[in-house]
Amino acid sequence: MKNKQYDLIIIGAGPAGLSAAIYAARARLSVLVLEEAAPGGQILVTDWIENYPGFPEGLSGADLMMKISEQAQRFDAEIVTEEVLETDFSGPVKKLRLSGTEVEARAVIIATGASPRKLGIAGEDKYYGQGVSTCATCDAPFFKGATVAAVGGGDTAVQESLFLSRFADKVYLIHRRDELRATRILQERVFENEKVEILWDSIPLEIKGGDAGVESVRLKNVKTGEQSDLPVSGCFIWVGVTPNTAFLKGTVDLDKNGFIIADQRMQTSVPGVYAAGDVRNTPLRQVVTAVGDGAVAATEAAHYIESSS
Ligand code: NAP
Repeated sequence: MKNKQYDLIIIGAGPAGLSAAIYAARARLSVLVLEEAAPGGQILVTDWIENYPGFPEGLSGADLMMKISEQAQRFDAEIVTEEVLETDFSGPVKKLRLSGTEVEARAVIIATGASPRKLGIAGEDKYYGQGVSTCATCDAPFFKGATVAAVGGGDTAVQESLFLSRFADKVYLIHRRDELRATRILQERVFENEKVEILWDSIPLEIKGGDAGVESVRLKNVKTGEQSDLPVSGCFIWVGVTPNTAFLKGTVDLDKNGFIIADQRMQTSVPGVYAAGDVRNTPLRQVVTAVGDGAVAATEAAHYIESSS
């Protein structure tokens, strides 16, 4: 880190955080972006993005993230790999504790995104990495010619099941209702895909396995109550997301699901602290909305810094 004190610290280097960095750096604020892993967030593991304007053929999540990262660095945003352990937003100078050091800023944007939600069933943790996965881009090639299960009915479950079907011979998509939540174009594609069979009105009760990993999923039909074992060698879980807000420990207001409450200016319950992207209580979690949030949050942070000087 070049300094200890910045105008603005952005926590998270996904699409929201890096867009905020571009806007803030162009507003000539001194900007530090803190990211605990590789810049990119969830889209790094998104196989293909075809609804982000400007790329008519679509592009991979990794490619899009590389371009956004390059753009942020071109405008001199400092991006550092560090986890934020604790936040103190009580005074006009916001303090962030990192491992071994503390950094300060006049404003903070929280853009820490969300992580895949767990089902909370037996076998899920035990076989994680041994057949249980939340990342098709990372793990689908291990299931070449295999029969696998996928759980969920949203955009992620449907899009990633389609990706999985390029490797697996058979994908059972397990959904708890009789209608998918995913966007229509994805539904049409999955209905046309001969390798994907949807098991409607079904929930997984347990993931069973042995020394070599997953062997089957115990299912229950929620309408009939009937239970059965589905033999599979993998189980991908895509049942929504949970916000990455644990490190905030009550310093900003969250909604009942843990997402940060922010207004249309991305302002949280603490003046000078903003939220952007999937981590906030937004009605739509897409790259295009995340980058919009980032731009608004950075612009508002710049106004806040100027007016409080
Ligand atoms: P989501 O939209 O919240 O969908 C979660 C799915 O999991 C729902 O179908 C839900 O069933 C099911 N589910 C939730 N809890 C469950 C449980 N305990 N047991 C069984 N099933 C359960 O989450 P997502 O698909 O991860 O998407 C998250 C956000 O990212 C969304 O805003 C989505 O639009 C966006 N996204 C967009 C794209 C794209 O544009 N191509 C791709 C990926 C993600 P119910 O339907 O019954 O509630």
